[in-house]
Amino acid sequence: MKYIPTQDYSFLLDENHYVYDHVEDEDSLHIYIKSKEHGCKCPLCEKMNTKLHATYRKKYQDTPIHCKQTFLHANVYKYDCENRDCECKVFMEDLPFAKASFSLSDLL
Ligand SMILES: [Zn+2]
Repeated sequence: MKYIPTQDYSFLLDENHYVYDHVEDEDSLHIYIKSKEHGCKCPLCEKMNTKLHATYRKKYQDTPIHCKQTFLHANVYKYDCENRDCECKVFMEDLPFAKASFSLSDLL
């Protein structure tokens, strides 16, 4: 092996997300990310919610790491807003890396 692969991708993450796998080949790097179960604030009413609605997979293209095209595969949580008066019934959790990355597709 030419170099030692790093497993420290913590710069992409916050305390609620972790990397559970990564696959590297000649010209691309795939990083697999999961959420820990955690409460999430509704973006509309800002109530803290813990009721999971579903998980789904999303794929992001990130800026190259080690000069390789980098893809983030994330298992993302959706939450039900538990506030009955809120118009937002289901919302997606906030992802620390999603704002800076480009979402390729919904895989579900
Ligand atoms: Zn709400």
